[in-house]
Amino acid sequence: MLLEIVALAAGYGNVGVLRDVAIDVEAGGITAIIGGNGAGKTTLLGCIAGLLRVTRGSILLDGEDVTALPAHLRVERGIALVPEGRQVFPEMSVEENLRIGAITARARDAAGQSFAQMIELFPVLADRRRQMAGTLSGGEQQMLAIARGLMARPRLLILDEPTLGLAPIMTKRIFALIPELVARGTTILLAEQNVHLTLAIASRAYLMENGAVVLSGSGPELMTRPEIRRSYLGL
Ligand code: ATP
Repeated sequence: MLLEIVALAAGYGNVGVLRDVAIDVEAGGITAIIGGNGAGKTTLLGCIAGLLRVTRGSILLDGEDVTALPAHLRVERGIALVPEGRQVFPEMSVEENLRIGAITARARDAAGQSFAQMIELFPVLADRRRQMAGTLSGGEQQMLAIARGLMARPRLLILDEPTLGLAPIMTKRIFALIPELVARGTTILLAEQNVHLTLAIASRAYLMENGAVVLSGSGPELMTRPEIRRSYLGL
């Protein structure tokens, strides 16, 4: 397993959010966390990236316990988070945003090569490389945020609701891109509310409700479950 989450609990102040969360992320796959608003997806991803402290449990990367490791050292180990709401630097150019993604020791030496790969993978960014990131459309900013994450040369790329607020055509594009990233050698952990599209590409998916995992299985398996069909697919 590339990533193992074991019996994880976390929260904000003394408000508990996550309870006994266990998740396995297989190398070379797309692991999805689905669930509605407030289920705890962002909180879980924050714990994995090292932005939030856990109160119980552990996080193993390739068997190594990284639970206490600061966020920047997790990036060095190959974990990159593309946060909810994109969070590109609006007053910096597309190219500058990308270069910042490769600031770590892990990625620095290959920054030129990574940049060339991103320009090839995202032609829209090539056309706009000198444009300020804040002037891009929402979908273009999401592409930039993903490309910036990839500049860190992650083994595990974590995407937090990458299609939130995007037009259907952009949503489609992002969902087409994710398997391509896997084919290029990056393992994906994806949190999404777009359950139908997510289950269609997920090798494994976990349904979260109220801070706990309530159901898991392969994408196609979960697609057939009555509770998913009723509550999340509107069928
Ligand atoms: P969303 O899609 O709305 O972001 P989510 O599944 O990612 O949903 P979280 O953002 O992880 O859910 O929120 C889980 C719970 O934690 C919610 O009850 C939320 O109110 C609470 N929470 C989130 N951030 C904070 C915070 N900074 N301080 C206190 N409580 C928070």
